[in-house]
Amino acid sequence: MKLKLLLPFLLVLGSAFADHHQPNFVVIFCDDLGYGDLGAFGNPTIRTPHLDRMAREGQKWTQFYSADPICTPSRAGLLTGRYPIRSGMTSKQRGVLFPDSSGGLPQEEVTIAEVLKQKNYATATVGKWHLGHLPQHLPMTQGFDSYYGIPYSNDMARIKGAPNYRQGAEDPDYLQDTNDFDVPLMENEEKIEWPANQNTITKRYTERAVQFIEKKKKQPFFLYLAHSMPHIPLYASEQFLGKSIRGLYGDVIEEIDWSVGQVLDTLRNFKLDTKTIVVFTSDNGPWLAFKTHGGSAGPLRAGKGTTFEGGQRVPTIFWGPGRIPHRVVDGMGSTIDLLATIASLSGTKAPDDRKMDGYDLSPALLGEGKSPREEFFYWNRARLHAVRSGPWKLHFYQNEPVNYSRYQKLDKPELYHLEKDISEAYEVADENPDMVAYLTQKAKMHIQHTADSTPDQVGARIPDFEYRR
Ligand code: MG
Repeated sequence: MKLKLLLPFLLVLGSAFADHHQPNFVVIFCDDLGYGDLGAFGNPTIRTPHLDRMAREGQKWTQFYSADPICTPSRAGLLTGRYPIRSGMTSKQRGVLFPDSSGGLPQEEVTIAEVLKQKNYATATVGKWHLGHLPQHLPMTQGFDSYYGIPYSNDMARIKGAPNYRQGAEDPDYLQDTNDFDVPLMENEEKIEWPANQNTITKRYTERAVQFIEKKKKQPFFLYLAHSMPHIPLYASEQFLGKSIRGLYGDVIEEIDWSVGQVLDTLRNFKLDTKTIVVFTSDNGPWLAFKTHGGSAGPLRAGKGTTFEGGQRVPTIFWGPGRIPHRVVDGMGSTIDLLATIASLSGTKAPDDRKMDGYDLSPALLGEGKSPREEFFYWNRARLHAVRSGPWKLHFYQNEPVNYSRYQKLDKPELYHLEKDISEAYEVADENPDMVAYLTQKAKMHIQHTADSTPDQVGARIPDFEYRR
């Protein structure tokens, strides 16, 4: 009888316990958003009230790295918790996957979505995938229940004879016909619109994201919302077009900011805000070759495609009212850490049968300690370019800041103190020979530790591939 009386109480206690240990996760991942493109990160002319509020309520991380300075490997690193060299998702042959690529994220790789399936999370991805567009590589083969989005970059498959977008990059308001880019919009395995109407794509991703949250509000869920903007070509829906004094790029960011507001408001409306952890970040730095159509890395040197800070340090905000106390975190973190962190917060298990590179950031997020990440390895196109330990960063290779496909091996490695010199402006190798020796050794050990990596999955092509138009 006593137990019977206690049972409802125990059930309530049990569900509170389950809630605590099984929060929902939303990862909002932008494409080519720079460190200096948000109000909360110092942009003076792009208005981002929702992201600014998210940063005020949550945690702004000022030294947070994407796994790689370009799209495909960056995404592989985020979803697997491993440097992309390990999964073969980086290549000396080609930077990223293209429509004629035959490869993709290997089936053996374990993604965040697959980890969360241990506890029956509902999983969805909305937006850009870019980890293989053939059926054997689509999101549903990697733990996602559903997919709505474009399979590769929004500028791929420009139709024959259409203007080169680069020509318009002189004009901050230049808008090219969205039909010039023959990129499909997919729902699960089907192409449902081809070419995708990119004018409304951010809005439609947002609607899908909100619908998913509404539908799954009663069970733990994971939403990976990977915006295809602000990667060029830039598009914004009518409500935002021509509104930002920053020009079209500003319109695009302000629409993404609106989108973040919609997601957070939906969580608040369903009282899921205290049961959900939201992460906002970017896959790499701004694409500087496109001038005002590319973003800003703020005080950081260079941008996308480079292993300077502007290529990989990305504006990152964590939000989880009641769970994640407000603060600005200047410890290091990386998208590579999200898998270990999410596994820890959800009470699931990260893979232990392979080499993992992520750290569990939850002590720092929950306000219980410091970030455990003390080092970062900067890979670019299957080559280790630089290594960071504490505040020190040593470069072995460097890309050209704008034409980033050009790189050089440095005759003499360059050393920078990133906390005293955020812009990598003052080279101090000669003054610190012991640190140069230490970091050189650290890089050698890391290269040895990755020597058993999966061979290149990005370089392979579909034989006799023809574009549709
Ligand atoms: Mg990108």
